[in-house]
Amino acid sequence: MTAMEEIEVGATTLFVLDDGTWRFPAHFFFANVPAAQWQARLDTDAEGKIPVGHNHGLVKTAHELIVIDTGYGDDRHGGCTGHLLDDFERTGLRPEQVTQVVTTHAHGDHIQRHTLLHAGRRRPTFTHARYHLARADWHWFTEVAPTPEVETHLVPLARSGQLTFFDGECEISPGVHLLPTPGHTPGHTSVLIESGGHCALFLGDLCHHAVHFSHPQWVSSFDTHPELTPHTRARIFSLAEHLRALLICPHLPAPGLGHLMRVGDGFVWQPLNRPARHG
Ligand SMILES: [Zn+2]
Ligand SMILES: [Zn+2]
Repeated sequence: MTAMEEIEVGATTLFVLDDGTWRFPAHFFFANVPAAQWQARLDTDAEGKIPVGHNHGLVKTAHELIVIDTGYGDDRHGGCTGHLLDDFERTGLRPEQVTQVVTTHAHGDHIQRHTLLHAGRRRPTFTHARYHLARADWHWFTEVAPTPEVETHLVPLARSGQLTFFDGECEISPGVHLLPTPGHTPGHTSVLIESGGHCALFLGDLCHHAVHFSHPQWVSSFDTHPELTPHTRARIFSLAEHLRALLICPHLPAPGLGHLMRVGDGFVWQPLNRPARHG
């Protein structure tokens, strides 16, 4: 059973859809750090792995239903992942009601339920939605470093005209802002949701582990531009503090919700306290 969460952000409802958790070698997340340093800050299993969550977003405003990233799709890792649509169904909403789909970046763990296979052809999962991707990620993942996931799940949407490219900061619906947060990928984007003075910030892969919040110089081996990552983190951490934003972090343990707490010159991750789950 995955761990769908529902949170009110002012008049907007945010669902966190749990695509699943699987264990992944921790060293990939600390590419520029001597092993002994990061190993002192977290526990791994005998194989050096840690559980990695896959928490994605569904935002319900007065007029729109917006999906943020879509997970692993048919890439199941022995049944551990690919559960996004199961959680979606638990919301009582239907995929055809989705008006927009935001892609924080074009990595395979964020785009593979953008499409569904119908009679041998890839069709959009969210049939009536406009899909968004930063133009910089489109360029990178089709021209510079193409991937089979982008070819399978984004190229058909571009061909059918359902994929829209954006540059820089934009507001795709009242109170739903796309913020460029480059480093992990060139077009990596975070999503700020504002309503009635309340804010939530969907970080994307700005941080993969809670220790990245207290060690913003420690970067993942998946970052295409790791030199940018610490600067982007500093800017977004300040914004989150200023807005007192609830943060959603895709790869922290489900549901990946928390706040930043200032400690000295830096921050630590404070997971959101939720009532115990029953049933
Ligand atoms: Zn990524
Ligand atoms: Zn990811």
